[in-house]
Order: sequence, then C-alpha cells, then structure tokens
Amino acid sequence: MKDYKEEEFLSLSGIQHFAFCRRQWALIHIEQQWNENLRTVEGNLIHENAHDKFFSQKRGDLIVSRGVSIHSRELGTTGECDVVEFYKSEEGIQLQGREETYRVVPVEYKRGQPKTNDIDIMQLTAQAMCLEEMLCCHIDKGYLFYWDIRHRIEVNFEDDYREKVKQLFEEMHQMYDRRYTPKVKRTKSCNACSLKDLCLPVLCKNKSAKDYIEGLIGEES
Ligand code: SF4
Repeated sequence: MKDYKEEEFLSLSGIQHFAFCRRQWALIHIEQQWNENLRTVEGNLIHENAHDKFFSQKRGDLIVSRGVSIHSRELGTTGECDVVEFYKSEEGIQLQGREETYRVVPVEYKRGQPKTNDIDIMQLTAQAMCLEEMLCCHIDKGYLFYWDIRHRIEVNFEDDYREKVKQLFEEMHQMYDRRYTPKVKRTKSCNACSLKDLCLPVLCKNKSAKDYIEGLIGEES
C-alpha cells in the first residue's frame, strides 16, 4: 500500500480533468494554466452553492455536511466533498460527539446532464475512498446530482471503479513527478474542452501552452 506525504498530494478534482484528457490535466495542474469559460464558471457557481462551508444540518435520522475536506494517503490526494450525508444505521460508524452510528454517503453536484463517460463516477469513487480511509469504514454507494435534470443518480462503488481510480492516481503522480505535459492529440473531447483556445489543438501541435504564451509575450515586447 502506498503512503504519500502531504506535500505530494494532488488535487482530487483533477481526476476528472485527467480522465477527460491527460493534456488538459497537465495544463491545469502542472503548467498551472486555466481558461475560465462558461462551463467552468457555471461549475464554480454550483459548487459555491453546495459548499456552504462548515454547514451541518440534522434532519431526523439524517445529518448533512457540506464542503467536507477529505484526503487519502494511499491515493496521495486531497480535496472536498460537496456534500456528505450520514444516515443513522446500526451497521454504520460512530461519529464524534454522537452516540448513534451512521452510514456514510458522499454526494457530488454537477452542472448539465449525466455523462456518457465515467469521469464523474471516478471523482465520486475517489471521494468515497478518501472517506473510507479517514473514517475507517466501508462505503457502498453515493450519488451524483445533475442540475439539468434536478435528479440524483446512484453510484455503486464497485471494485472495477476503485481499481481504475488507483491506476489513474498512480499515473497522475508519475506524470506530475516528471512534470510531463503530453502533446496535443485531437479527439471529440476537444470541442467541449475549457482549454481548447489555450491548447490550440490545430495550430499548436508541438508547443506547450506555456511556450505559446511566452511566445506571445516575446512578440509584444
Ligand atoms: S483541446 Fe483537446 S487536446 Fe487540448 S487539452 Fe482540451 S481535450 Fe486535451
């Protein structure tokens, strides 16, 4: 089992960028480029609403916590859960300051419609794996809430998903350690990519975004 140090932790939300496109992840998380288009602005607003910090509410047998900080030493990641729901259950875990035991259920809020790929599922599974490590529990399922359909979809954290999350993080750590940004490989994903103008999939086949920006600055000076 891996045991990453805190200074080696990568952003958990990066798993969705990495699963979408390795180059997009590297531009954001290695080269620190970010191009805020409508999609990312919308996404941020949704998350601001969900991340009502330090908010915890009890409704009968349910406790709802928002903006919960999470991490995993095994995956080498840190991030936040939009919402974690705790359902009173005899098979659950004890929470600090409470006598009852609770089942743990992460919920992630997403703009748009459910996706045809498993990017969101990877992010939610990674969140569940963090919570399991932190709370010493097993989590069977969580939910993805999509704003366009105003509905939550159940996700069962199967072994295949967990294995894929581990592989993705291993690959992310290897790429980050090498500070490696893959070259452009144009796919259908490029049309919906928040970095497409910066990445320049057609014009900038061999340049990194950093090189491109430095080139522009050089031309102006
Ligand atoms: S434009 Fe295409 S190749 Fe470039 S980062 Fe986006 S998805 Fe990846």
